[in-house]
Amino acid sequence: MRTWNSVLTVVLLGMFLIGSMSAAAQQAADSQPLAQPPAPDAAQTAQPAAPAAQPAPSAQPAPAPAPQPAAEPVPATPAPTTMDQVVNLFIQHEHDLVKMLSNRTPVVETYLQNLTSDAQLGPVPSEDRYFLGRMDMGEIVDRKDYLKDEESKSMQTRLLGGFEKLYKVQYQPLGFSWMVYADRTDFDREHYDFRYVRREFLGEVRCLVFDVTPKKNSGRGRFLGRIWVEDQGFNIVRLNGTYYPATRNTYFFHMDSWRLNLVPGYWVPAYIYSEEGDFSAGVKNKLAFKAQTRIWGYDLKKGTKDDELTQIRVDSVKDDSPTAQDASPLQAERVWQQQAEDNVVERLTEAGLLAPEGDVDHILQTVVNNLEVTNNIDLPRPVRTRVLLTAPLETFSVGNTIVISRGLIDVLPDEASLAAVLSHELAHIVLGHNLGSQYAFNDRMLFSDDATYQNLGFKHIPEEEQAADKKALDLLKNSPYAQKLDNVGLFLKALQARASQLSALLTTHLGNPLTQGGQVTRLSALSTQGPALDNNKLDQIAALPLGGRVKVNPWDDKAEMVKTSPVAITSARDKMPFEVTPFFPRLTRYGANAPAAAPATTASNSNGGN
Ligand SMILES: [Zn+2]
Repeated sequence: MRTWNSVLTVVLLGMFLIGSMSAAAQQAADSQPLAQPPAPDAAQTAQPAAPAAQPAPSAQPAPAPAPQPAAEPVPATPAPTTMDQVVNLFIQHEHDLVKMLSNRTPVVETYLQNLTSDAQLGPVPSEDRYFLGRMDMGEIVDRKDYLKDEESKSMQTRLLGGFEKLYKVQYQPLGFSWMVYADRTDFDREHYDFRYVRREFLGEVRCLVFDVTPKKNSGRGRFLGRIWVEDQGFNIVRLNGTYYPATRNTYFFHMDSWRLNLVPGYWVPAYIYSEEGDFSAGVKNKLAFKAQTRIWGYDLKKGTKDDELTQIRVDSVKDDSPTAQDASPLQAERVWQQQAEDNVVERLTEAGLLAPEGDVDHILQTVVNNLEVTNNIDLPRPVRTRVLLTAPLETFSVGNTIVISRGLIDVLPDEASLAAVLSHELAHIVLGHNLGSQYAFNDRMLFSDDATYQNLGFKHIPEEEQAADKKALDLLKNSPYAQKLDNVGLFLKALQARASQLSALLTTHLGNPLTQGGQVTRLSALSTQGPALDNNKLDQIAALPLGGRVKVNPWDDKAEMVKTSPVAITSARDKMPFEVTPFFPRLTRYGANAPAAAPATTASNSNGGN
């Protein structure tokens, strides 16, 4: 296996990806719908989770009323009549965007898979890396990492290698998130030539396409590539290319950077795909990687240390006991646990790690409910669910809240597999394996966002893990999913097949891991169930690529199910279990998909606060 270090020294120069879009993008989400009706013999009370592709009209995600950006809105300008005027406009708007975002500190996540060539499957992951941090988009170069472990740190330093220094001079030290802007400071006619190419639609948005080249002697590390400019407000919506020229010791990755119209008048950076490598015959160096960078949490409060310390929290614990008496000891215990649960959910949401309650939770709760009703589980408080916004595959529970990561929902092949991973956490709740009551003390919530992983944790002891797996199996066997556990077995086999290559994806940060030492431990009793894993069986979908299920709104962190129509798998290479693929979001204008009722929301002026 090649080491990561050697990748850096060899791969990163030269190749130029302008305009070449991988066909792999088309297949990012081909699968059975996550939510399927239960087996015909299921108990009548069990409900199918709402199919992701057919949301109820009311579930139509209205773009949240975004708060007005701090910067003044872009003034209305007369429509440009020449390409020269168009160039002036998008240059001006790029500077406006830099200004508007300068007081923002979004979360930035990069997940990277180093690739090796497999005769049957083509490029497959050989190892992986994960980075998560908050990015200060202001003038001050700042980046706070959520992950503190030394291995990750030193790897990141090596990853940034020669160009770390360059970042500090010209860019934010963002690692893979650097193609947020074409050129933060010098995006203008003095430094660049702009050549109009053609018109092109990206999703619903008609764009003008320009090639951008740095002028001679305009300095190192200038943007070289192509930009897409939407033709109403003349904002850049996509950048594709690299930086140029590099010095002897610097490397620039190729990137494809997408923006979304989440705020009126502005398109904010959301996704960046990066890829290097050449697997064609005769190429001596077959080192390669692909990486996804996601940005979200633009609307999070700026988490400065001062803010944190002065932010004294007063939790409103509502006494909802029916009688006006003091709580009994058991009631007191439950209220205490709920207080801890509420604190944790709120704190994780503030840190940009948990999506606010939303559409995805309805699906998750339906599945949990199916498990509960068919097992006659009657808990004193309803089980809630929330989506952890990060990629690593993990679940955990705190009080009666089950948390499952975006990455795990993405890769699950079907509803039965979703039920299986949820059943483990439901089992913890049913068995009373309650963790986290210490978080009912509010002082334990007073830490800076980037210290979240050091301050919160929900890992059970091995005995509780085994007991939960055993109970989960019982729950599943009584549930509408009993007949579909073969699919779960298949998923676990697929996980096992990739476990040793994907240690970063399988490293959990809050809950117990699904694997230990490269072996799948979660629900291992099911791992022998079902048919053998067979790449040649095109109808056997054991696990999906990342990114196919859950879509996160980078402004308000709301999660929703992706709506894509299935794409036929034509070869084993199309399956790409657990893999990173390019991004191809369907671009729409702000409010374009809002239902008719949406104006009422806006009119209520609920965005006046913060
Ligand atoms: Zn567990």
